Amino acid sequence: MSELRELYQETILDHGKNPRNFRSRDDADQTADGHNPLCGDKVTVYVKLDGEIVEDVSFQGVGCAISTASASMMTEALRGKTLDEVNVIFAAYHDFVTGRCVALNPPPPVLGKLVVFAGVREFPMRVKCATLAWHTLRAALDRQNKPVSTE
Ligand code: ZN
Repeated sequence: MSELRELYQETILDHGKNPRNFRSRDDADQTADGHNPLCGDKVTVYVKLDGEIVEDVSFQGVGCAISTASASMMTEALRGKTLDEVNVIFAAYHDFVTGRCVALNPPPPVLGKLVVFAGVREFPMRVKCATLAWHTLRAALDRQNKPVSTE
């Protein structure tokens, strides 16, 4: 395993064990629930908006290290971003982990620390874990009323 891969693994394990912004928010503007039946991951995402700006994102749920870490890192990546920027990051991240983005080297700069999820593209089951929180966030922003399922 290369040093870079080890660093990526460590970051994912760290966020999986000590998720950031792991809390509910009663005054959230929008929330949504997501479920990945294949792995058993469940997540609720809370979004607080200030106009077009994501003032705060937080989450709660139970799941594997990848789903928890991806939700944790998503909350850090999106705080303070505009809704347009969120769309750009969402699309880049989705293409990146599903392998649709060919240009891995260098990865799109907009991804920042999210590049640690590069390894999941080799494991289709894990891609669902790594994108659950993101699809759930999308549903929250789109004000969809039914829970998100990766199936
Ligand atoms: Zn999972």
